[in-house]
Amino acid sequence: MSLPIYEIYAVKYAGPFLRPMAKVLWNTGWEKEIEINYYLWAIKGNNEILIADCGVAPTLAQQMQLQGYINPVHVLARIGIEASRVQRVVITHIHFDHANGTELFPNATFYLQEKEFNFWIKDPVAKKPPFQMLSDTIGNARLSKLEGLEKLVLINGDQGILPGIDLLFAPGHTPGLQVVAVNTAKGTAILGSDCGHIFRNYEEEIPSCFIVDMVAWMKTYDKLKSKVSSLDLLFPGHDMKMLTDFPKVAEDITRLV
Ligand SMILES: [Zn+2]
Repeated sequence: MSLPIYEIYAVKYAGPFLRPMAKVLWNTGWEKEIEINYYLWAIKGNNEILIADCGVAPTLAQQMQLQGYINPVHVLARIGIEASRVQRVVITHIHFDHANGTELFPNATFYLQEKEFNFWIKDPVAKKPPFQMLSDTIGNARLSKLEGLEKLVLINGDQGILPGIDLLFAPGHTPGLQVVAVNTAKGTAILGSDCGHIFRNYEEEIPSCFIVDMVAWMKTYDKLKSKVSSLDLLFPGHDMKMLTDFPKVAEDITRLV
């Protein structure tokens, strides 16, 4: 039986932000700067809609004065996706820009790696400054309340969640980051989230500066490259090109594949 084919959409909800290049491309280009965006992603096909990451909810966006912020609910509506009706949301990792907005999807089941959940929600080390800088207390408290409920599915390692959609354990950037491997018309594509901030991270095998385990991260690169059908189908978490170099289907939304 052949697998269903899905399309993947990049949904920009904030940015652009100017960042030092050395932050995005570890230890490289100290004198340079680069622009990035904040995204979530929609996967559509086989009568299913799956969202990867949930962005930032308005309260935190306002508190942080996020430049160019639009409530992800309003951006998704531009392609006819009603956030309140979404049933499945994959959270790639528990950094604020990917995991704060669970409240925007009140009827969804959330898929998270157990290791990621246990670290950010339970490990006292996650309270130390380098981790707190990328974490948000309110979003994490919301996640923590889901423990034990059917709305939270904790995954251990690689697991299929729908025909043609697999979650892959991909540590390095965080202890339990997961990526989404998707069967598309061009073969297997991978939504890599912050395994790479930009395409160059994968091309040059240099990660961003936000590292919890460099050895694991390099092994993750090998793993993802062995699973993806071609390198251009391995999508990063923050590259401007996802908005500028792919067919635009609505304001702030492009079709990656
Ligand atoms: Zn990120």
